[in-house]
Amino acid sequence: MSDPLEINSNLPPLYAGWMSQALQGSIPVETKATCENCAMCNRAAPTVPQTLFFNPKVKCCTYIPELPNFLVGRILLEPDAATVPGRDKLQERIIKGIAVTPFGVVKPPVYDLLYSQATNFFGKSEAMRCPYYIEEGGLCGVWKHRNSVCATWFCKHNRGATGFLFWKNIQKLLTQVERSLAVWCIYQLDVGKAAFKRLFPLDFPNQGNSRTALDGNQLDGLKDEADYRLAWGNWYSRENEFYELCAQLVSQLTWAEVLAIGGAELLVTTRLAQEAYQALLSEELPARLQTGTFRVIQAGGDKNLVETYSAYDPLSMPRQLQEVLNYFDGRPTGEAIQAIYDEQDINLTPSLVRKLSDFQVLLPVAEEPES
Ligand code: SF4
Ligand code: SF4
Repeated sequence: MSDPLEINSNLPPLYAGWMSQALQGSIPVETKATCENCAMCNRAAPTVPQTLFFNPKVKCCTYIPELPNFLVGRILLEPDAATVPGRDKLQERIIKGIAVTPFGVVKPPVYDLLYSQATNFFGKSEAMRCPYYIEEGGLCGVWKHRNSVCATWFCKHNRGATGFLFWKNIQKLLTQVERSLAVWCIYQLDVGKAAFKRLFPLDFPNQGNSRTALDGNQLDGLKDEADYRLAWGNWYSRENEFYELCAQLVSQLTWAEVLAIGGAELLVTTRLAQEAYQALLSEELPARLQTGTFRVIQAGGDKNLVETYSAYDPLSMPRQLQEVLNYFDGRPTGEAIQAIYDEQDINLTPSLVRKLSDFQVLLPVAEEPES
């Protein structure tokens, strides 16, 4: 049997192990998102519109991840030397204490505000770069323990929108896992009565969802010492120890135990992720197809570059192919392929039709409900 950590190599080790158990199988690697030689930074690539290239000094890391307590602990405990720069940055953040709570280390409020207001910065602005990004070499300093968002975001997907939807489902699942386990860790490790009340107010878990005006301390990057002390309770000034214990508690959990902690909501999200996984593995063609919506973004000689489900993952499409798409008008897929062959002398292979369907150039026709 293959090693699940290897076959799920797109995911951090802890999440790879859990997803192997949740999905009962391995996840195909997204080979088009070539992070070490960033696909979005390659100006020679014919399939990236000139206006969309990413800045190699940031790649897609114009984002600060929300690290739940147990991932913070795993980063602090990580012996791999490659993690040292990321770990040092995280340690600096813990010492500063801004957006550092028993739940984890999250976006500082000033960054959060900028992120919500800025436009056209993604993949471009150095001011918005993640603190854990290692400029030298352009690598992630916390790669083995990156969070649900970082672990599931790809600029390109081998199976287009089918892959995108699969990873969206996994992101949702892992984000729920992160929230549940962060709360569970706090519950396990006695923070003290006052801290418990401070961390779980009556409107929990909705607290913090509405953005409030920033005060002078927040703008100056200073923490509210009294509130910080209150929130950390018994663990005040022992933050590292707390995070490391969270890591130890969580790292031992099987997927069945994670599900038991997460409850019914997690069961539902898991089932949806399993369905998206089956779609990702399926090679079947939809029974009937019709033309979807796409946009020519770069006209070429005999090929056009078209944008379909994502601006970052356009398709290079032969004009000849574009001209026969109207055969897919809701009739059975086999009949459409046959008609194109008979009338246009063009042989569309099932794998090409599947690709057009994956990239939503062609869309499945919804089945009529049985009366
Ligand atoms: S996922 Fe990010 S780092 Fe990886 S290739 Fe795409 S833009 Fe580059
Ligand atoms: S944690 Fe890593 S992958 Fe995520 S934004 Fe930062 S550098 Fe990029």
